[in-house]
Amino acid sequence: MRTLLADHPLVTHKLTLLRDAATDTPTFRTLTDELVTLLAYEATREVRVAEVAVTTPVGPANGARLAGPKPLIVPVLRAGIGMLDGMTRLLPMADVGFVGMVRDEKSLQASTYANRLPADLTGREVFVLDPMLATGGTLITVITMLGERGAAAVTAVCLLAAPEGLARLDQAFSGDGAPAVRVVTGAIDERLNDKGYIVPGLGDAGDRLFGQI
Ligand code: URA
Repeated sequence: MRTLLADHPLVTHKLTLLRDAATDTPTFRTLTDELVTLLAYEATREVRVAEVAVTTPVGPANGARLAGPKPLIVPVLRAGIGMLDGMTRLLPMADVGFVGMVRDEKSLQASTYANRLPADLTGREVFVLDPMLATGGTLITVITMLGERGAAAVTAVCLLAAPEGLARLDQAFSGDGAPAVRVVTGAIDERLNDKGYIVPGLGDAGDRLFGQI
């Protein structure tokens, strides 16, 4: 597994505002959207392209266009929905699938309550959107589902990651036949607390994006 820490000053600036407990929900949503577009720029660095020729008003030029098959973007419900617009802004042609995961607050185990994914992902690049890579349980479940459908490469885009979650993910997908996994994140924080929250983190990303329900 490869981890890419997008330590750009604009990423750090926006993350700092997101971390601030005084940031209200509308501002949190806007900042998340902007931050994801910056992370998406890094996450799509290896996206497949095909060479094409075009004619400019001045003459012929060689260039590149995104090559097929179309990438798939998978926001993990609920909080990943807050990242979808920021990602599709850079990849408007991508298909979008959905996985709904909920975490039991006592066992910290994640379980699936919704799944809308193409049956065959052979050879496709997949971008999973999950703001908080905490224990890693959610991403392990989702990436396993994608690998079973034939995904060739999976990039997880996360606002924040915990070292414990990164280590678990690395262990889960290091074997032969596992999909090639990359994590793009805005920061790697100190640790998880006993409730599975990232420290210092930003709190519950779903609640801060969409309110407590
Ligand atoms: N999920 C969150 O929303 N926040 C955390 O810190 C960990 C998991």
